[in-house]
Amino acid sequence: MNETAARVYAEIDLDAVRANVRALRERAPRSALMAVVKADAYGHGAVACAKAAQEAGASWLGTATPEEALALRAAGLEGPVLCWLWTPGGPWREAVEAGIDVSVSALWALEEVREAARAAGMTARIQLKADTGLGRNGCQPADWEALVTAAVAAQSEGTVRVTGVWSHFACADEPGHPSVPLQLTAFRDMLAYAEKEGVEPEVRHIANSPATLTLPESHFDLVRCGIAVYGVSPAPELGTPAQLGLRPAMALKASVALVKSVPPGHGVSYGHHYVTERETSLALIPAGYADGVPRHASGRGPVLVGGRIHTVAGRVAMDQFVVDLDGDEARVGDEAVLFGDAERGEPTAEDWAQAAHTIAYEIVTRIGGRVPRVYLNG
Ligand SMILES: *Cc1c(COP(=O)(O)O)cnc(C)c1O
Repeated sequence: MNETAARVYAEIDLDAVRANVRALRERAPRSALMAVVKADAYGHGAVACAKAAQEAGASWLGTATPEEALALRAAGLEGPVLCWLWTPGGPWREAVEAGIDVSVSALWALEEVREAARAAGMTARIQLKADTGLGRNGCQPADWEALVTAAVAAQSEGTVRVTGVWSHFACADEPGHPSVPLQLTAFRDMLAYAEKEGVEPEVRHIANSPATLTLPESHFDLVRCGIAVYGVSPAPELGTPAQLGLRPAMALKASVALVKSVPPGHGVSYGHHYVTERETSLALIPAGYADGVPRHASGRGPVLVGGRIHTVAGRVAMDQFVVDLDGDEARVGDEAVLFGDAERGEPTAEDWAQAAHTIAYEIVTRIGGRVPRVYLNG
């Protein structure tokens, strides 16, 4: 089978990934860039995207889980990698032996990494994460003194080296949000305390994609970019990908599976939430919520088929949905584009996010495991 004749497939343009990394490096010229490739590179394929990002000058890779970081090493990727979402009993020793930087937000994690380093007979690379206001992962300011003291002691005994001090924004995608300067101040304070106590980080970092694009004072030594690497806008308020100098890397395409005429008054798909007004042609698109097409976009999601952008008619089902061609012509086997690049006249992941009342991050990340990824410019 020809892959591009598949039922549905995600085309990933690795040249777009490279171009986005270069564009982001120009936005933060004095900082290194970490390409965040968690969640299989937001659905784009972690190994292929990590390689492309490194080729374009991303000197760090970032993942949420240690398993994701270890998978990068297993695929032969070298260079600094940070992972930040740990639970007790995690693969600390494997991570230490693979030279992966591990994030530490609390004393329990420092204890586990010290033990792993002793068992491995190595010095673990750890980065201390500060909660400067996000209220999610990271160490609270009130607990920072104890964590820094314990980390400095572990550093003296040789089990760990503190390679980074870092934090994460809550509202960087809302320019002007009052929490942003407050978090920057808290970060500078917590960083200054750690440095006073003897921590000499290689990298200090807090900026995600929206902060990289809008907030130069947040760039420090390293910017951590995820969504922007994939050419998706972090938020509609920040502009379209083209306005941000980015190119969408993923296009979700399907082959029209059936075209048929139906009479007026014909209900379409489960629940008959769409009823034809006149005799019309329906095109069956063989992709559904099992493939990551959001059911919440029923009756609203846009699809380029028959030469125009049409709207999903009725419910998105598990494996398929229907488009009313409304006078346009399409044939079985024609290409239908659910999202791609607005510069090519295609609907976008941002459009689907709006239709499904969610964010574009979720649209690309949830493209299902059943959907083959087809790489361009690998
Ligand atoms: C996901 C994530 C990022 C990347 O965020 P984007 O908005 O996609 O750039 C950066 N840092 C942390 C801690 C994350 O979890």
